[in-house]
Amino acid sequence: MRAIDMHTTTTHPTEALHEADRLMVVCNSCRYCEGLCAVFPAMERRRLFNDGDLNYLANLCHSCGACFSDCQFSPPHEFAVNVPRTLAQVRGDSYRAYAWPGALSGLFSRNGLAISLIAALSVAAFIAGFMAYHDPAVLFGTHEGAGAFYKLMPHNTMALLFGAVFLFAILAITLSMRAFWRDIAGQTPGGGVSALFQAIKDAGQLRYLDGGKAGCMNDDDAPTDRRKHYHHATFYGFLLCFAATSVATLYHYLLGREAPYPWWDLPVVLGTLGGIGLVVGPIGLLAAKFKRAPELLDETRFGMDAAFIVMLLLTSVTGLALLVLRATPAMGLLLSIHLGVVFSLFLTLPYSKFVHGLYRFLALVQYARESRAAH
Ligand code: SF4
Ligand code: SF4
Repeated sequence: MRAIDMHTTTTHPTEALHEADRLMVVCNSCRYCEGLCAVFPAMERRRLFNDGDLNYLANLCHSCGACFSDCQFSPPHEFAVNVPRTLAQVRGDSYRAYAWPGALSGLFSRNGLAISLIAALSVAAFIAGFMAYHDPAVLFGTHEGAGAFYKLMPHNTMALLFGAVFLFAILAITLSMRAFWRDIAGQTPGGGVSALFQAIKDAGQLRYLDGGKAGCMNDDDAPTDRRKHYHHATFYGFLLCFAATSVATLYHYLLGREAPYPWWDLPVVLGTLGGIGLVVGPIGLLAAKFKRAPELLDETRFGMDAAFIVMLLLTSVTGLALLVLRATPAMGLLLSIHLGVVFSLFLTLPYSKFVHGLYRFLALVQYARESRAAH
């Protein structure tokens, strides 16, 4: 059935933005869902929706599905209101629209394929490099104690390679976020530190990922909190792994202590806990994705969603395998595979689903600023 073409006064460059504009006009007349999440109160502060407004609202949405389930105008009604799917399409397009440099934004088009190829090439390059550089007796030898990893790859080479790709990722992400922020921030007064803290709190609790406390909708129409729990495990697992790497860097440069560290040492404890989070969370998210009601999803973005989740899973599984088998002859090969996975993860961070967390955080900052300005 064709959706009725309600009047919108703003022109947009994509069909998804045009449809989001139409839906926001319908929802702004109805307002039945205003208690479900941040999207509807933010929408109610506007009468017209330019591209920046719609990208802002789309990145506030967690695709919980509650507004679709509750909506009296969802298909087969002629208004054909499907907010979660439309905002998911706009959100997916926004990653490409704000990507820096623009020449690489095409990586978002067939993202699953692009990330798979980059990861495969990266792992192959590390394995080939290790094999070409080392005598098999070294590569498949047993190395133990401080500095064991650096017998396979000199520390300075590792630091240079990973430092360069990390700095590139930070630069690309920062410039992408700046472009997004400029589009959504408008003329809203600052909001100060309190708005920032509110956004940090809301992001840390995934406050709006529960459809107004009911949970996320699934294909059996029984809402659950599982998606929220798996997001938490993934998010905090990622932070713990990042903390482990940071502490290990401080150990190396400030204390002169070289990896690998004993199992009870802080980098290993943080990395193990983070690794477990990054196994449990991504597996749960993948499973939850297959249980979601298909009418809520932007199925053209399935490859992007799956690719990032699988990259996180590969990072944690190869890291934990390296931890367990580091004092065996498998260490050389496992180290090359783990480094290849981590290198490609860093390289693709600005062009992967990773950015959704950052855009969502900026949208929450803007929401907190607007909420303060309204009171
Ligand atoms: S999603 Fe449906 S019920 Fe909710 S505000 Fe929009 S039109 Fe109303
Ligand atoms: S967060 Fe949930 S309730 Fe809010 S707009 Fe998105 S799908 Fe609808």
